[in-house]
Amino acid sequence: MVGSVLVGMLCAHLLCFAVMFLLISKRLQGKKMGMDFFAMGNLLLGLAYVLQLVEGGPAWSMMSVVNHTLTLAAPITYGLGVMRFLGFPAPLWRPLAAFVLAYSTAQALIQWSLGPVARYAMLSGMSALLFLVMTLAALYGVRTFAKHLYREMAFFALLISGICILNAIKFIRLLQGGLEVLHMDSSFQMVFYIYMSSLATVVPPFMIWLVFRRLTDDLSQMAARDPMTQLLNRRGLSEALEQHFNLHNVAPAYLLLLDVDHFKRINDTYGHQAGDTVLRHVADVLRTTVRRGDLTGRIGGEEFVAVCLDSDDVGVVQLAERLRAAVEEQAIHVSGHDKPLHCTVTIGVSPRFANGHALEKALRAADVALYQGKAAGRNRIEKAHAFAHIAPLPGAGASATT
Ligand code: GH3
Ligand code: MG
Ligand code: MG
Repeated sequence: MVGSVLVGMLCAHLLCFAVMFLLISKRLQGKKMGMDFFAMGNLLLGLAYVLQLVEGGPAWSMMSVVNHTLTLAAPITYGLGVMRFLGFPAPLWRPLAAFVLAYSTAQALIQWSLGPVARYAMLSGMSALLFLVMTLAALYGVRTFAKHLYREMAFFALLISGICILNAIKFIRLLQGGLEVLHMDSSFQMVFYIYMSSLATVVPPFMIWLVFRRLTDDLSQMAARDPMTQLLNRRGLSEALEQHFNLHNVAPAYLLLLDVDHFKRINDTYGHQAGDTVLRHVADVLRTTVRRGDLTGRIGGEEFVAVCLDSDDVGVVQLAERLRAAVEEQAIHVSGHDKPLHCTVTIGVSPRFANGHALEKALRAADVALYQGKAAGRNRIEKAHAFAHIAPLPGAGASATT
């Protein structure tokens, strides 16, 4: 009786959360993050437990075969859902259909050749194996592809390792004691149902929290980045700098303001789309030329920023020169045009600064230097006053100091 009540509650949990997952996945539209798979997994497992309630006890029947198949199809669906959440494009219907066919056939063969205990033992053994694979995948994820979800994946691994252990125990007890173990009110089954009910209560809100976290992360990313180049925008730069200077003992920074020379001419000659390609190219050069940890941003139409962290007066000018030379040298292939385009940038370098609030001041100083670079002929580097004592770099483009 108690066993039936527990299974009934488990069904209610699973089916309610199936509906909730489905509603959330409908709202998420293009980017469902595995929510539709979780809905399906809950539905399959909920139906399996409904069948178990209707069946009453272990028996060889069509209902029982469907029940076992659904019980295993559910964790497979959850696993595929987790892959979807992590960004792997896992398919659902084909693997599921192949599994249903293969496992139903296997059940008939095992029942016929080894008897009912073996069929039930196969279910527990396969469940233990599946959850073991999922636990190991979660632990592997903690160290590799899901490092950013360290705590969440470790928690998830802990939860599902519990089902793995319970199924392994059930497998051994079935082999030792036969079908008696499966009696709904046996103490082992009670523990099993209580654990499953707790999971069915804890895991869905946990998954919803993960999706919520992903959505809010995406929103703050969108608010901080320029959609065309994916570089930081002014707000993103300011936040990243605040973060940098909030750390203790951080070295001062320098700001480089880059402006594409005669960009209007590129737009007018080759079209706006070609202009956009040029902007994306400059963004790529910026991204790949700065040092790891430096900040890169786009703060206006054809104006870019690099914030050079942990450098000195000589290093920052060397970086500016590397950037200027890289843009000048690299050809830009534009669709619809046979000949590659070339462009140049003028760079204004700010004095060094040591707090996040100085961003605007650094931008203004770099802008004054940039303006002077434009007036002096473009495709060059111009340094703001504080750098007056630095000797000009040898090579093209490095200008006299201001
Ligand atoms: P200078 O060498 O003095 O910097 O001259 P310039 O032509 O680069 O400067 P100007 O400020 O006159 O022109 C900037 C142009 O950038 C004007 C504007 O139409 C264009 N622009 C701004 N945003 C975008 C964009 O997102 N895509 C494209 N293709 N063009 C843009
Ligand atoms: Mg400009
Ligand atoms: Mg320009």
